[in-house]
Amino acid sequence: MGTDRIREYDCKCKCGKGTVEIDYCTPDHGWPTATPFWYEARLKCANCSVKYEIHQQDDDFVYVSKQDIADRKVLQAKVDAKNVTLLNSPRVQAMRSRLIQFLDSRPSKAAIHRTLQSIQLSSCTIQTFRKHWKGADEWLRFNFSVHTIPTFMKLLDITDLGIQLQIKAIETLEKQASDTLPPVGNPIYTV
Ligand SMILES: [Zn+2]
Repeated sequence: MGTDRIREYDCKCKCGKGTVEIDYCTPDHGWPTATPFWYEARLKCANCSVKYEIHQQDDDFVYVSKQDIADRKVLQAKVDAKNVTLLNSPRVQAMRSRLIQFLDSRPSKAAIHRTLQSIQLSSCTIQTFRKHWKGADEWLRFNFSVHTIPTFMKLLDITDLGIQLQIKAIETLEKQASDTLPPVGNPIYTV
């Protein structure tokens, strides 16, 4: 399967030596698809490509600085490192152990399912749950994260201001790392 492209817009780049091209793209078949159309932008300038990329932000195509993109990567790496430190910390590991004990000591799989549903961490049917549940330790490998720890603390009735503050700090950094990049100048084109 390929892509049909129609030139939606083009213009000179920032320095004037190259071009920016924006294509309207559709799959080259008529079957229903999750993404019926999308846009692709190209910055065809050796000069401007050193400093910028073209990004689509909602309906606007804008220049963003490659330095900003690099800074975000550094920030994201910081978030990842803080996540690992928190998850491996003795207090959080102790909480994880308590949680495993708590869940595995429920009287039945149905009871575990009800508990996880009550904290919005299971949305499947009991039949599916029974089939896939392989114990709390295994389940937590995919569901124990900085985002679910507050829910588990509530479930176990644990208060730990230190952990809560660390989570807040990680979430703040995470937001900074994923915020829309600041556009450089006005939008090039709005679809
Ligand atoms: Zn240029």
